[in-house]
Amino acid sequence: MPWRKPFRPPSGLSRAQLAQRAYEVWISEVMLQQTRVQVVVGYWTRWMARWPTIHDLARATEAEVLGVWQGLGYYSRARRVWEAARRVCAADVAGVLPGYVEGLMRVPGVGRYTAGAVAAIVFGVAAPMVDGNVLRVLSRQMGVFADVKGDRAVVGLLWEAAGELVRAVAADGEETDGVSDRPGQWGQALMELGSTVCTPKPNCAACPITATCRAYAEGLTLAEDRQSIAAVEDIEDLCTLCAPFEEAAEDDGGRAEEPRTEPSNGDGRLSRFFAVTQAAKTTANEGLDARTLAAVVNHARKFPLKKSKKKVREEETLVCAVRRSDGRYLIHQRPEKGLLAGLWELPSHTLPASNDSTAKTRKPKALAYVAGLAAAPKAKERRTLSPPPKHVGELGSVPWLFSHLKLTMHVHLFEVNDAAALPELGERGRWALVDDIDAESMGTGMKKCWSLVKDWVA
Ligand code: SF4
Repeated sequence: MPWRKPFRPPSGLSRAQLAQRAYEVWISEVMLQQTRVQVVVGYWTRWMARWPTIHDLARATEAEVLGVWQGLGYYSRARRVWEAARRVCAADVAGVLPGYVEGLMRVPGVGRYTAGAVAAIVFGVAAPMVDGNVLRVLSRQMGVFADVKGDRAVVGLLWEAAGELVRAVAADGEETDGVSDRPGQWGQALMELGSTVCTPKPNCAACPITATCRAYAEGLTLAEDRQSIAAVEDIEDLCTLCAPFEEAAEDDGGRAEEPRTEPSNGDGRLSRFFAVTQAAKTTANEGLDARTLAAVVNHARKFPLKKSKKKVREEETLVCAVRRSDGRYLIHQRPEKGLLAGLWELPSHTLPASNDSTAKTRKPKALAYVAGLAAAPKAKERRTLSPPPKHVGELGSVPWLFSHLKLTMHVHLFEVNDAAALPELGERGRWALVDDIDAESMGTGMKKCWSLVKDWVA
């Protein structure tokens, strides 16, 4: 990871060096929220080659930034990074990001996680950085069987715990001017543990912190001493955060590993096991037979509680490439707000939900849509197309998945003979040659549609 560098106390750096270090870590952290580390390495390297300093980024245009960001998704995030660079450079000659969490959170697009990461890694401040991996590790370490993403009380508890931990770790070592490398090292270590060892299906056999792990100890107890569990006094009323444990069984979807060790007696509340797990806490990993270890992993993987995901909405669109006799295509820029804000696309029309979507039923709808573009209320001029656009065909369908939407884009190609056959759809549309369209910022799904068109025409 090229952005990982040895910590140097801010007091030993020049303002320019500090600005540079903060810029590098900030960009890496924003990108890491979008995709996997391996992918980010390429994006980060290209970004730094294009804009080596925050000042270079502040001088870039929005379109250039969106172009380099292309493929990472959530384009509004890239826009906020660019906006933040301009504001930071306007406020500070050296372009240094604020060195504390509250100040960082006032920077556009910087949330609690990114603020914690930059404060800890760059400035050596004892700030927690809690991403999805850390939430999973802490829920297992603390035995919190609850929704760690949607339940605000639970999220607050885990952030608080992460804060206590990083402050304890920072106080445990040497400091220079009140800061040290320990907060950054600690935060990154926790995240890495969550992404490599304490994954959704944890590798407890390789974990260096089994001794403090509540889920591990509970799993061990379940595997070794079910009689003791039955005898534990019911203390469920002491905890209101954890969900009834039965909910975890559904999540296994019948794939639970052997042996299944969930208790069948009593009401099955996790709190029944707490007293027993205290005794099992110090048991070391070594010497566990495969069956016991499988039971431990099987128990730990149920943490945190997984809420059933909302059904993703499904939608179909007609993506209409309209090619003029001079080789130009009509393209359109999306609105400044909403999905894929500000990106360019081929004219697209969302189909009403129906069960009769076939190539045959879509063709007249695509024809009507393209003919309607000429008379669109926002068009610069209204006219009737004569002759009407020629429907070359449906070239294929491109499925695309957003976090909240499953989209299927049916790509149609039209040809119009009249060089001025269609108006430009107001301020946000224009006719463009292939190379110009290639250079525009488009969502990755739309790029695939555009490739279908180019391949067909070639
Ligand atoms: S012991 Fe297992 S569940 Fe606990 S933190 Fe380690 S890997 Fe995660």
